[in-house]
Amino acid sequence: MVKVSQVSENIIKIHMKIGITISAWVVKHENGSIIIDTGIRPMAPRILKEAARFGRVQMILLTHGHPDHVGGLAYIQEKVNAPVYIHGLEVPYITGEKPYPNRKKPTDYTKGFSVKQLPGDSRGVFHSMMGIDPYFTPGHSPGHTAYYHKKDDVLITGDMITSKNGRIGPPMKQFTANMDRAMRSTKTIQKVAPGKLSICHGEDLQYSQHLYSAFVNEYQSKV
Ligand SMILES: [Zn+2]
Ligand SMILES: [Zn+2]
Repeated sequence: MVKVSQVSENIIKIHMKIGITISAWVVKHENGSIIIDTGIRPMAPRILKEAARFGRVQMILLTHGHPDHVGGLAYIQEKVNAPVYIHGLEVPYITGEKPYPNRKKPTDYTKGFSVKQLPGDSRGVFHSMMGIDPYFTPGHSPGHTAYYHKKDDVLITGDMITSKNGRIGPPMKQFTANMDRAMRSTKTIQKVAPGKLSICHGEDLQYSQHLYSAFVNEYQSKV
């Protein structure tokens, strides 16, 4: 069953439990709505319905191209035809050009719709988009990106981390391309120091220095 939770004033989380929890987000903006990740296909109609409450979908941002994040993309795009942004390194994996590291088969999740690279400068710093700052957090996947909503002070982590019992956990090992790199990317959490962490696979967490330190201590050798 698909469920909806309020993350903050302008952000809602659409989630579904199939063994693990899978989440996607809808952000309310003065010009309409923004979808962040598209979950698996059964979640797509609900994501669209929630987005429609805030007005026309202005853009779709993707944290990365794993199937549980882009499974609803083609369905949603068919209805809204909004610009889709993802880190340039992820593009060949979602257009079916090549398989993810350690995967056998490439898959085209875009079904012919175009995807754009997140705009940034030559040093790889992304431009802020409609009040959302993308942060390059590679490791779980080569071009993994987290999104920080400035006004609500929420960091949407995607799969950079997981959470369990009120604690931060590392990304899911079996789906993580480079765990050392993924662990280094978690420093973004401390750098941004948001009010809240909204996590795809797990419950959301109030950020504190202690929360992050506890995670580092537990997995120290890897951060
Ligand atoms: Zn993933
Ligand atoms: Zn995932």
